[in-house]
Amino acid sequence: MITGTTKILGVIGDPISHSLSPVMHNAALTHLGWDYVYLPFAIKSDDLKTAMDGFSVIGVEGFSVTIPHKQTVIPLLSEISPLAQSVGAVNTVYRTEKGWGGTNTDVEGFLAPLKQPKFSLKTAWKDRVCVILGNGGAARAVVVGCAQLGCTEIHVVGRNLQKLEEFQGSWKLSPFPVDVKIHQWENLPEILKETDLLVNTTPIGMSPKIDQSPLEKSLMNRLKEGGIVYDLIYTPNPTRFLQMAEERGAIIIDGLEMLVQQGAIALQLWLKQPVPVEIMRQSLRQYLNL
Ligand code: NAP
Repeated sequence: MITGTTKILGVIGDPISHSLSPVMHNAALTHLGWDYVYLPFAIKSDDLKTAMDGFSVIGVEGFSVTIPHKQTVIPLLSEISPLAQSVGAVNTVYRTEKGWGGTNTDVEGFLAPLKQPKFSLKTAWKDRVCVILGNGGAARAVVVGCAQLGCTEIHVVGRNLQKLEEFQGSWKLSPFPVDVKIHQWENLPEILKETDLLVNTTPIGMSPKIDQSPLEKSLMNRLKEGGIVYDLIYTPNPTRFLQMAEERGAIIIDGLEMLVQQGAIALQLWLKQPVPVEIMRQSLRQYLNL
C-alpha cells in the first residue's frame, strides 16, 4: 500500500515503457514488506538535470539509469565509483551527503553467471580468449568483466572501424587500462577457432526479430570445442544465436541472469540489506512467460 511515508526509487530513460526493472524491484520490495515503490520515469535528455534536481527535492532515494542517460548523467554526480569510471557509464545512482553518487552494476551482473561453480570448475580464466560482438555501452561492461576474470585476450568485433578505434583508444585513458584487440566482422572466422568465451552485445536476434543471429550457423560451427556462448539479450529466451551455440555443443548463458543480478546489486545498495534475488528472478520469468 502506498502511504504518506512511502519512499521512492525508480528508473530513468527515454523510452522507458519497455523497462523490466519496475517488475523485479517492486516484486522484491513487496516480498520484503518495505514501504517503498519503484517507478519508471521517462526523461528527455534535455531534462536530465532538472529531473535530478527534482528527485533531490522530493526525496527520491535512488534510481537506475538506462539509455540514453548512462554517460550524460556522469557530470551531474558528486561522486562516481572507480568501476563506473572504468566502464565510462553509470546505471545506478544513490544519495550521498554531498549529492548524487553513481556506480555501475552491469559488470557484476555480467560476471555473476560466469562465477557459478559449474563454470569456474571447468574454466581457469587465465590464458582464455574472449570475443565480444558489438562495441556499444554493454560491451564496455563486458570488457571490464572479462578483464576482471583475467582473460588473456579480449577481442571486440564491430561494423564501424572509426567507432572501433575510438573504443580501443578509450581503454588506454581508463583508470583500469585494458588491452582490447579490435576486428571487423570479416575477421571473425579466424578468431572463432581460438574463442573460449563468445559474448553477443549487439541487439541482433532481440524480439521481435527473433529469427536473426549475429552469426550464421556455418560460422558458429567454427567455434572452439567446449566454448561458452553468452547472449546479453533476454527475450526471446533462448535466442537463435544461443540455439545454434547449443547445437554446436557450447555451454550457453542468456541475458536474464545478468538483468536480475545487476538489479539485485543496485537494490541492495539502496536498501543496505540483502535482497530476495530468487523473487526478482521469478517475477521476471513469470512476466516474460518463461
Ligand atoms: P548500444 O550501446 O546501442 O550498442 C549496440 C552495439 O551493437 C553497437 O556496437 C552497434 O554497432 C552494434 N549493432 C547494432 N545493430 C547491429 C547490426 N545489425 N549489425 C552489427 N552490429 C550491430 O546498446 P547496448 O546498451 O550496448 O545494448 C546492447 C544489447 O545488450 C541490447 O540487446 C540490450 O538489451 C542488451 N543488454 C542486456 C543487459 C542485461 O542485463 N542482460 C544489459 C545491457 C544491455 P554500431 O556502434 O556500429 O551502431
